[in-house]
Amino acid sequence: MSITVVGSIAYDTVKTPFGARERMLGGAAVHFALAASFFEEVRVVGPVGEDFGEAELDVMRRRGVDVSDVERVDGGRTFFWRGEYGWDLNSRETLDTQLGVFEGFQPKLSQLSRSSDVLFLANIQPDLQREVRAQLPHARFVALDSMNLWIDTARDSLVSAIADVDCVILNDAELRQLTGRPNLLAAARDVLSWVAPASSPNGAGRGPSVVVAKQGEYGAALITEEGFFALPAYPLETVIDPTGAGDTFAGGLVGYIAAHPREELSDELLRRAMAHATVLASFNVEEFGTERVERLTGAEIVTRIGELRSITQFSGTPVRLRH
Ligand code: AMP
Repeated sequence: MSITVVGSIAYDTVKTPFGARERMLGGAAVHFALAASFFEEVRVVGPVGEDFGEAELDVMRRRGVDVSDVERVDGGRTFFWRGEYGWDLNSRETLDTQLGVFEGFQPKLSQLSRSSDVLFLANIQPDLQREVRAQLPHARFVALDSMNLWIDTARDSLVSAIADVDCVILNDAELRQLTGRPNLLAAARDVLSWVAPASSPNGAGRGPSVVVAKQGEYGAALITEEGFFALPAYPLETVIDPTGAGDTFAGGLVGYIAAHPREELSDELLRRAMAHATVLASFNVEEFGTERVERLTGAEIVTRIGELRSITQFSGTPVRLRH
C-alpha cells in the first residue's frame, strides 16, 4: 500500500552542543519519507528551488522513494530552516524560516500520488495540507503533523485540516496550545471530538480517531477512543541532533500502518506502530540530519525493536498490599 506525503523539502542549518551543519538535506517530508520507505513505497509531493541538488534527490531515490512529484521551480529558492539547540535537546530555537518556493505553491499531484491509500500531511502551511487532502478523498488512512508556527498564524485552517484526517501527530506542548487545555488527555479528547463538516472530502461526521502526542526524549503517548498507551524514547547515551525526529517518528508510525492494509485500525496495531516509530526516531537523532537513517538497515531496526520490547516489559507478579 503506497504512501503519499506532502511537506517541506528543505535545507537545514543546525547547531547543537555537539557540532553544526550548514544547509544539509532536511524537511519534514524528507525525514518522513526516508523512515516510511522501510515499510512501503513512498511518493513525495512538494517544491524545491533551483538551488536543490540532484545528490539530495538521490538520497531519497536510493531508499526507493518516488520523487517524480517533487517540482523544481525555476528561479525559486528551496525552503530553508535554521535552528539551534542548547544542552536541553528537548527545546530548540528557530532562528530563521524561509518558505521560498512554498510561497504560492499549488500542489499538483500525479495520478500515481493520488492513488495512494495512505496520506501523510507533514508539517507545512495548513491550507496546502487541505489542498492535498482534497485530492485523495478516498485514502484509507490520513495522518497530519503541524507545529506552533501554524497554530499561531493559521489556527482556523489547521483546525479544519485536522477535522479531515484520521490521525493527528503533534508535540504535547503543541496539543496544549492548539486546544487551550493544560491537561494532555483533555487536549487529546478535544481533538478526538472534532468532526469534519458536510463539505469535507473525508465525509461528514468523520474526524480524527487517533491522537499521538510526541514528548521528545521522554517518548510518545497514544490516545484513542478505546484507550491510552505510552512508550519511552529508546534510551541512547549519545544524541547528536534531534532535528527531524518527529517526522521520522511519523514515518515509522504511518509506514507500519500502511504495511498492514488488511488489519483494522485497532489499538493493538497502533501500539506496534508506536514501537516502530520510536525505534526509527531513535536512529535519526544519533547523527546530524538524515545521515544515520541513510545508512540504516532493516536488521538494525528489528534488533532495536526487540530491545525496546524488553526494556518496556514488566511482570504482573502480585504483591500483598498493606491497607
Ligand atoms: P522535527 O524536528 O521533526 O520537528 O522537524 C524538523 C524539520 O522540519 C526540519 O528538517 C525543517 O526543515 C522542517 N521545518 C522547520 N520549520 C518548518 C515549518 N515552519 N514548516 C515546515 N517545515 C519546517
